[in-house]
Amino acid sequence: MPKLSADNCRSISVYRLKEWDLFDHDIRCGTIWWSRPGAEKRNSVDYVIDLNSSKLTLSYTITQGKIDIEHSYPLLKTECNYGGMRYWFECSIFNRGRYCGRRVAKLYLGGGGKYFACRHCYDLTYDSRLDGFAYTDWHIDEDAKKITRWYYNGKLTRKHRSLMKKQCAVDKHWMEFMATMPKISKILEVDH
Ligand SMILES: [Zn+2]
Repeated sequence: MPKLSADNCRSISVYRLKEWDLFDHDIRCGTIWWSRPGAEKRNSVDYVIDLNSSKLTLSYTITQGKIDIEHSYPLLKTECNYGGMRYWFECSIFNRGRYCGRRVAKLYLGGGGKYFACRHCYDLTYDSRLDGFAYTDWHIDEDAKKITRWYYNGKLTRKHRSLMKKQCAVDKHWMEFMATMPKISKILEVDH
């Protein structure tokens, strides 16, 4: 995939979808718009969130070449230590012939790409250069692999607790980071 350029990068974050209460119903659908200050043109993507089949489907048209795209991403659910459930996207993109399958909180479209995909597929390194925070979803995944025992005597193990704490820090950080991003407006939302 081509390198992402921050200029034309659009993203969909689970935190935003949660903020918009889109995980509260079995099926939600609507349109997400991206607008840039001063720009006339707006980009949009139609979405369907179907919790029965646990997937997010995005459909949109790539302006260049007028290509219609429809693609689904499995939605994964994990329990969060600080209460409630946490959703993730599975990046269901074949990148250089290999299925990605990463569990991510954010999908991007940009740099001339046709599909929303995770930052790994787009070769985008989200790290301290971006906003001064180095612990990422990727680190969570890697640390989670190292944990052999999640519970002991019905209680979270020390490593499990520490990972949860870091995960919450990442969540919180993303929330703050997203708050500084240009506001995405959400309109035309329809309940089924
Ligand atoms: Zn990916």
